[in-house]
Amino acid sequence: MYIVQIASECAPVIKAGGLGDVIYGLSRELELRGHCVELILPMYDCMRYDHIWGLHDAYRNLEVPWHGSSIFCDVFCGWVHGRLCFFIQPKSSDNFFNRGHYYGALDDHMRFAFFSKAAMEFLLRSNKRPDIVHCHDWQTGLVPVLLYEIYRFHGMDHQRVCYTIHNFKHQGIAGANILHATGLNNDSYYFSYDRLQDNFNPNAINFMKGGIVYSNYVNTVSPHHAWEARFSDISCGLGHTLELNQQKFGGILNGLDYEVWNPEIDPLLASNFGPKTFGDKAKNKQALRERLMLEADDNKPMVCFIGRLDGQKGVHLVHHSIYYALDQESQFVLLGSATEPNLSKWFWHEKQHLNDNPNVHLELGFDEELAHLIYGAADIIVVPSNYEPCGLTQMIGLRYGAIPVVRGVGGLVNTVFDRDYDQNHPPEKRNGFVFYQPDQYALETALGRAIALYKDDPVAFKTLALQGMAYDYSWNKPGLQYVEAYEYIRA
Ligand code: ADP
Repeated sequence: MYIVQIASECAPVIKAGGLGDVIYGLSRELELRGHCVELILPMYDCMRYDHIWGLHDAYRNLEVPWHGSSIFCDVFCGWVHGRLCFFIQPKSSDNFFNRGHYYGALDDHMRFAFFSKAAMEFLLRSNKRPDIVHCHDWQTGLVPVLLYEIYRFHGMDHQRVCYTIHNFKHQGIAGANILHATGLNNDSYYFSYDRLQDNFNPNAINFMKGGIVYSNYVNTVSPHHAWEARFSDISCGLGHTLELNQQKFGGILNGLDYEVWNPEIDPLLASNFGPKTFGDKAKNKQALRERLMLEADDNKPMVCFIGRLDGQKGVHLVHHSIYYALDQESQFVLLGSATEPNLSKWFWHEKQHLNDNPNVHLELGFDEELAHLIYGAADIIVVPSNYEPCGLTQMIGLRYGAIPVVRGVGGLVNTVFDRDYDQNHPPEKRNGFVFYQPDQYALETALGRAIALYKDDPVAFKTLALQGMAYDYSWNKPGLQYVEAYEYIRA
């Protein structure tokens, strides 16, 4: 099959979170399975150009109709660790992708509506006719709308669309001006409940709803989150839309790219290790302690958190786990970037407060290289999320022999099985600790058990870590499920 992925991220060149990992890992897996995959991405000024090989211009002066006039774009082409990527660079004073950041601008709706329009125009003008267009999250929710309502009439009538929702929280709720800008126009047609009209704001359109309504197959990134999306309020108002579209909606668990996340070959570790050389993991702990100037005390487990400091990630519980771990004679390392100024202020304050404590380090910012070393060093990784569509950090933790302590929501339910209480897996298949209530007492019951196991029964702790390493959370199975979904909608 010929598959084009249209997305706002692709690791490692553009990565704000798990979406980037997924776009890269899935594309690689699809190629390994013999499919032809191309990616269309925005050309941000702040992306990691050092990860693009052979960047050259692929299409000069692509004319993209916009607001009744047009914006010209240059499309560049290059390889990101073997994946063929097309980068769209608009030439207009709007400077859509020259903002020094990927998201968070006041005109994000316009930026990504433009990107979606430009991606479709690029496919049309460059005569690319993929079998499958796979788009992701609200940023590209308008792609299937544009394909069905406009580009279908320009010869793109056999393309099928798969739409993957990585996070329901951000849906792209905007005004009618988006319709005029993209050439969809006809307000009264789109402002209807069964098309783009937001389910709660009758004067707004909803990009993600458009993606759901107009795509041939829709999924979120774990089976449990797909269930939550339909039957709880986690889908932020889209539950009824999913109910109406249930025949084409499902959940496919994300995979991990085992080339990137492999402790046996990871060049960013101080010492490589695997199940048979598990003892070498300790060298990473030593290296991390030296790097962060932490006390060298092997009686203390290394508890870590890596992730966005965001309401979704359960920041209050992350904060509590720092002090709880210290109280339980453990060490704590946090690597996180705050998504809001008040959260940033809070954690900077904590960082200063804990600055002289030799058992804790808070690294505030985004640091891909350091993240690898932390996974390699961690004994325990905490993921106390409020909600978690899939979650990659617990899966990376498992792969790197760090035992996850997670809240039982979303994809965490599909990947972490409590050592003491899981009813569905025999003891030798369990791999972590799970709590359910979103409060500190519940967190303590799980984190406390993990720390106690480390201190009281190191052999059992190691056995649990090895059981986690034995799990296969690669792209192998999800890759097959996506191929099956593509084949289903082509048929
Ligand atoms: P998200 O909701 O952010 O997508 P995931 O758990 O799905 O969360 O994926 C997070 C990915 O981003 C993981 O690869 C994790 O290692 C990485 N990550 C998150 N925060 C940081 C950070 N501050 N520095 C480096 N990597 C990070």
